[in-house]
Amino acid sequence: MYKEPYSFNIGRFMDEKRFEKIKIFAEDIPTPCLIIDLDTIRNKYLELQATMPNYKVFYAVKANPMDEVILLLAGLGSNFDLASRYELDQMLRLGIEPSRLSFGNTIKKPEDIKYFHDKGVDFFATDSMIDLENLAKYAPGSKILFRILTEGTGADWPLSRKFGSHPDTIYHLILKAASMNLQPWGISFHVGSQQRDIGQWDDAIARCKYLFDAVAEEGIELQMINIGGGFPANYVDPTFSIEEYATEIQRFIQEDFGENLPDIILEPGRSLVADAGVIVSEVVNISRKSKNNLYQWVYLDIGKFGGLIETIDESIKFPIFFPQIGMAEEIILAGPTCDSMDILYEHFHYRMPEGTVPGDKVYIFTTGAYTQSYSSVNFNGFPPLKAVIYKEL
Ligand SMILES: *Cc1c(COP(=O)(O)O)cnc(C)c1O
Repeated sequence: MYKEPYSFNIGRFMDEKRFEKIKIFAEDIPTPCLIIDLDTIRNKYLELQATMPNYKVFYAVKANPMDEVILLLAGLGSNFDLASRYELDQMLRLGIEPSRLSFGNTIKKPEDIKYFHDKGVDFFATDSMIDLENLAKYAPGSKILFRILTEGTGADWPLSRKFGSHPDTIYHLILKAASMNLQPWGISFHVGSQQRDIGQWDDAIARCKYLFDAVAEEGIELQMINIGGGFPANYVDPTFSIEEYATEIQRFIQEDFGENLPDIILEPGRSLVADAGVIVSEVVNISRKSKNNLYQWVYLDIGKFGGLIETIDESIKFPIFFPQIGMAEEIILAGPTCDSMDILYEHFHYRMPEGTVPGDKVYIFTTGAYTQSYSSVNFNGFPPLKAVIYKEL
């Protein structure tokens, strides 16, 4: 087998000097541990604001709900999209005004709608008749966004099918809402997370335009489009830049709506926080299962249950850096738990420098989103992923 020296371009994922500092900062912290760099989140937010200056941001809290992250974004002027009463309790505990919150989950219990309404939240998303009726009953007078179905094509982590309804169904829901004590406010969609095909926004925005026009004929003026999340983070597979997304999306909206521009909000999760995280992990074991196996199995102290669930179907390919020097060999990567599903990458072969041994550290970049919040409570006794905010030493 032809071999070449192991190489990994740290600079593609994090400023190298910053990484050196983070490495030192993390030296004495037991692994696995997620280190979050707030400066990166600040820069991502400012970049987003600079490229889409007229759009309001509602950060999708589920991507990384750490208090420090929420407070940073709140200080920068972000609003927040919530999925449960527990997230609402957290926002209120942190002193964030209800006027900056939306309940974007279309799947909610009547008592939770009432809870949000009682706390002063008046901004909801829906996609079904039963939910709409609950909103009219338990959150009268509220502003409603109607979520349309998208295909999720082109997304590394699609959300399709489960959320949203066909525009024809949504049309009837909007008319119904107008006849109840609710304010039909606009249309929302989510094109799928880590969406690498910018054209997906074009299709969705065209559907919004169709609905704006259709209900206008019934005398209902919609005023907002929520273009969702789906903006990219920096994983192994390349994407366009945020700036390119912004330029294209603003062009799509301009083309469809011309002079009569609706208010636009967006709900980024992954793109704001993912690049800010590095998981420090450790090699637990390395094993060649038979003399004739081409690939060694490398077991880390973090796996699917410890926070890397987005490796399901090898959907998200996290950049993984082995710091040893040596010739590269292709490996199979797995987690530490006693579940055979806890394999990270078997088909896509990561590379590791020969000479890596158990006990060596491993750095997993772009892990600030959907890792800690996804980690299991106690499977096999392993605690949920610990996360620490990086502080300049
Ligand atoms: C998860 C979610 C988001 C965030 O999506 P990203 O792809 O992480 O940016 C935004 N809006 C809604 C309704 C969501 O469920």
